[in-house]
Amino acid sequence: MRKKIVAGNWKMNKGFQEAEELIEELISLFEEQEVKSEVILCPPFTYLEMASDYAQEGYFHIGAQNISPFPAGAYTGEVSASMLESMDITHCIIGHSERRKYFNEDDKMLTAKVNQALMHKLVPIFCVGEALPEREAEKHFEVVRRQVRHGLFHLDTNEFQKVIIAYEPVWAIGTGVTATPAQAAEMHAYIRTLITERYGAEVAEATMILYGGSCNAKNAAEIFAQPGVDGGLIGGASLDAEEFHSICKQA
Ligand code: PEP
Repeated sequence: MRKKIVAGNWKMNKGFQEAEELIEELISLFEEQEVKSEVILCPPFTYLEMASDYAQEGYFHIGAQNISPFPAGAYTGEVSASMLESMDITHCIIGHSERRKYFNEDDKMLTAKVNQALMHKLVPIFCVGEALPEREAEKHFEVVRRQVRHGLFHLDTNEFQKVIIAYEPVWAIGTGVTATPAQAAEMHAYIRTLITERYGAEVAEATMILYGGSCNAKNAAEIFAQPGVDGGLIGGASLDAEEFHSICKQA
């Protein structure tokens, strides 16, 4: 049986004090009502140390939103997987569509990031998803197949089993337009078929696949109830403690 996971991607939001307030508010909500799902908070790099101190209370894990494809050295502005490992960070979002789009992260770079993460015991939350023109041209399966294959299928079975996949149709991210539950279920099933072909049915059954894209407290339950949907990667709605807690409760 796969567990449910809810990860909050704060992106580039909140000042330090606001970030700390959000975490404290979340902790009091988790104290009032515990949730069954595993919760991962992904704040900006600058708040990771503060957030990982709060994670000691046991309500959530902490993930980074990005890592360097390089191990160490003269790469100004970069943060390496080994640095995150030394701070007890457990997860890392890799291949988010905003990084693919605004920072030109291509398949080759993402492969290097996945390798760095696994080398340093970080669980990659590997994002895939098609843009609107690709869905309209009925190329969504082809696009996701390429992203999954190039980003992950070089891994051996043991390494692959450590990865979480997030299906995030780009047209649903931050737009208020959610994939229909049927569209999410269809793509999750397709990704599991790809994994079956490469690693076998048992590994495919055990792989965690999250949905992301305008998920909120109102639509989470229906999406999370879809077969093959193991929880969500939540952007905007993770910036409000009550809304995020409500989403976590529904997973
Ligand atoms: C995301 O950025 O991963 C995301 C799903 O954003 P939103 O929930 O705001 O659409």
